Amino acid sequence: MADHAKPSCDATRAADPISWPNGAGAAAILGFDLDAEDVALTADPQSRHRLSVMSHQAYGPVTGVPRTLDLLARHEIRATFFCPGYTAERYPDMLRRIRDAGHEIAHHGYLHEAMQGMTPQQEADVLDRGLNALETVAGVRPLGYRAPMWETSYATAGLLLDRGFLYDSSLMDCDVPYELAEGPGADARSVVEIPVSWSLDDWEQYAYVPDLFGCGLIEDPQKSLSMWRSELTASHVEGCCFTLTCHPFLSGRLGRLRVLEELIETMMALPDLWLTTAADVAAHTRSLALEPRVFPQPEIRGLT
Ligand SMILES: [Zn+2]
Repeated sequence: MADHAKPSCDATRAADPISWPNGAGAAAILGFDLDAEDVALTADPQSRHRLSVMSHQAYGPVTGVPRTLDLLARHEIRATFFCPGYTAERYPDMLRRIRDAGHEIAHHGYLHEAMQGMTPQQEADVLDRGLNALETVAGVRPLGYRAPMWETSYATAGLLLDRGFLYDSSLMDCDVPYELAEGPGADARSVVEIPVSWSLDDWEQYAYVPDLFGCGLIEDPQKSLSMWRSELTASHVEGCCFTLTCHPFLSGRLGRLRVLEELIETMMALPDLWLTTAADVAAHTRSLALEPRVFPQPEIRGLT
């Protein structure tokens, strides 16, 4: 149980604004989801026979990640890498290089499984398999979790707390981090939630594999930059947390990475923006001892 346990509030009300440390006016997180072959294999296991598809996904670990690490090093930025267990096992040297560069490694499922339709036990098994992979490959016990495809369940928070996680980063109802209660009741434990948004995800801009995923429209990186800058500017003015999600198999491409660097340069020009890892934001949020928020599950008469 969280040592700050307090009466919970109903999450049909917005989360309160939060303060930021050391004079910062807002926060920003660069998150890189290390989806590789796993995201294609979950979409269609037979895609393992499609060498070109596998190579498209391998672009992330093989080419995109080294280039991304160079970019982050140039700007002396620490980022958070959310890694499926399967990616960790297939590319162990990549994961250890990320770890050795001082970045945060967090959990992102095993084979990039979305949680809808799973029982809590099935969800727990996936969490444990992913934890085991990160521990075995890189000696990492992650503090954070991001659900593949951002598909969580009402059981997820409790399963994360049972395994010692500090935070989740999969929900979409707010622009600031908050405490997410595992359920109703004054004794409910809570996990820090760092909200995300499809509009701050490069997947929607760039992902396309024929017959597998994506809508077939590959956007101009300048459009992504324009969208993300608009969100960054507003998030900074409002004192929120800008949480960008990129995939090295997508944003590791040359022109897209150049655009990401332009966004980073915009961030660095904001003197009171706290650009850091998700774990740092989660630890700060936990220090505020916020009132946990409970999500009342919608009920529909006659439906279970
Ligand atoms: Zn993912």
